[in-house]
Amino acid sequence: MKHIGRRAFLIGAAGLSLVGILKPQLVADWVSKQPEAVQEEQEEQVEPAVAPEPKPVDCDYILTNGTIVDGMSNKAFQGNVAIKGQEIAAIGDFTWTPRAKVIDATGLLVTPGFIDLHTHTENYHRQNGQAEMILMQGVTTHIGGNCGTSVSSIEEHLSGIEATGVNVGLFVGYKVLRNKFVGEGKTTNAQLEAMQERLAQGLREGAFGLSVGLQYWPQHYATTEEMIALCQVLKDVGGFYSTHIRNEENQVLPSVEEAIEIGLAAGVPVQYCHIKTAQKANWGKMPKVLELIEGAAESGLDITGDVYGYTFSSLDLDSDRESINEDDLRLALGHPLVMVASDCWLDKNGKSAHPRTYGNYSRILRRYVREEKLLTWETAVKKMAAMPARRLGLHDRGILAPGMKADIAVFDGNSITDCSTRSQPNILSQGMQYVFVNGQLAVKEGEPTGTLAGQVLRRV
Ligand SMILES: [Zn+2]
Repeated sequence: MKHIGRRAFLIGAAGLSLVGILKPQLVADWVSKQPEAVQEEQEEQVEPAVAPEPKPVDCDYILTNGTIVDGMSNKAFQGNVAIKGQEIAAIGDFTWTPRAKVIDATGLLVTPGFIDLHTHTENYHRQNGQAEMILMQGVTTHIGGNCGTSVSSIEEHLSGIEATGVNVGLFVGYKVLRNKFVGEGKTTNAQLEAMQERLAQGLREGAFGLSVGLQYWPQHYATTEEMIALCQVLKDVGGFYSTHIRNEENQVLPSVEEAIEIGLAAGVPVQYCHIKTAQKANWGKMPKVLELIEGAAESGLDITGDVYGYTFSSLDLDSDRESINEDDLRLALGHPLVMVASDCWLDKNGKSAHPRTYGNYSRILRRYVREEKLLTWETAVKKMAAMPARRLGLHDRGILAPGMKADIAVFDGNSITDCSTRSQPNILSQGMQYVFVNGQLAVKEGEPTGTLAGQVLRRV
């Protein structure tokens, strides 16, 4: 119902904007396994500019002459983006009212704000964090409570957030459920029912799904059957199964198979988190891992994965060790069913031990897009914004289109760079020029403004 209303609104707004009608279901469709088909469909939708007497667009900000990577189209295009209130008012070629503040985006990329659906930053955001380390990468949304570790009450946590620099949301964590109702060992029926009830409550309070970390104590006591039973709740109430699989090392393949089995048996979407083939003996297994995901997708499972842009995990920081090799990482990052996430962590003072917290998105843009050309800018933006938005069911974010929330990143593709390293993980990225969060300027002329414009996001 909501979907139809939004579509009607966008079609109404499109007349003003002088661009073609952009349908929000494209957010859901583009990830389809036939990119050519999506492209064709999109081309058909682009209609010639009409409006016999073009009226200037009334807006607060106008980004002029940028290179727009909207998260849907397969090609970047030149144009303006108008922002009014919290939303994008128009995109394309149009005039605007004199009250608009003009930002010259010539030579800069204009993209949707990036959405990081795998973070461990919920305690930082609870402290009204300005999130400058996140914003300076163009990231405007953080979803926390991953790998089974989350807050004890979704409602209490979300309603306690007074102000944040970025949009925030949560998962219900399996470790929290197990600690409260089971502890170690086998789960009884009564305990399972108690966990199901609490999970349903968290989902109704706005959590985006159930996160698990089956590799960790005491979550590893969970049987496949127990997971399927918990996922039935997702089927009934909504949300998806977000899994740090049981083993990312020698047992990585059976562990992926288990995640697929759980998703298929319960009939729920699966997010396979921070894909890796850890430990040297398993390097080279990535093609098999990706084949398993593809096979599951072909058999009808709505499964996607995510990956961060480093070969070492937080467990490798004390040594020179790497948990995944470069070839496997590149295969995962380049795969159409895999999006970008950071798996980042922040303490209450905004510090992190791993450079990915301050650098993941800028690193991928610098290294894998600009330098190595593994991804095009268009594909990278899809992986950083549109794909996670679709996975989370955020219909009003993740792409640039009239009527969408004005979460926008504006940066120089030639200079965007991560500066955080293994030895100095807490250095801000460079090259991000402007970032809007819900229509407010959070980064201006390359500097964070301190504006706390983030919103609490709940599953709809
Ligand atoms: Zn994890």
